[in-house]
Amino acid sequence: MKRKILIEPDPILRKKCEPIEKVNDDIRNLMKDMLQTMYDAPGIGLAAVQIGVLKRLVVIDISKEEKKRDPLFLINPEILSKSENTSVYEEGCLSLPGQFAEIERPAKCLLKYVDLNGKEKKLKADGLLSTCIQHEVDHLNGILFIDYLSKLKKDMIIKKLVKHKKEIERVVV
Ligand code: ZN
Repeated sequence: MKRKILIEPDPILRKKCEPIEKVNDDIRNLMKDMLQTMYDAPGIGLAAVQIGVLKRLVVIDISKEEKKRDPLFLINPEILSKSENTSVYEEGCLSLPGQFAEIERPAKCLLKYVDLNGKEKKLKADGLLSTCIQHEVDHLNGILFIDYLSKLKKDMIIKKLVKHKKEIERVVV
């Protein structure tokens, strides 16, 4: 089932998410919804908080072609280490529609997470996947990519989003 994605500014997007204690069918079904919502948007990553669920859950798929889909389900993801060298990607976010900015982050990271079967796993990531993982783990701690920008740039983006949200509401009414 496709879910509604929350748009910044929204106080829920700023909350810290709770860890999952047991991986059961409820969690698996929720993550299926998250994946469907992400593909439909379309996007390459989505955290549960973006659909209003304050749990430490993330789905990612950086494969570009529909036929080569390769989803990653991350439960309780935790970044164990980050490289000193950095890389810059132009980032966007499904909760900040139409907004993009170049963000510098550690180029590589080592991730620990639990998979859909409840097994603990580790993943070494670089390139776009590393950036995407860091962006999504930030969501679980109430952090958005605009928080890395100057106050001026951040305020400008938030102003645009407020206007965008008002326009959406007008259409609904
Ligand atoms: Zn995002």
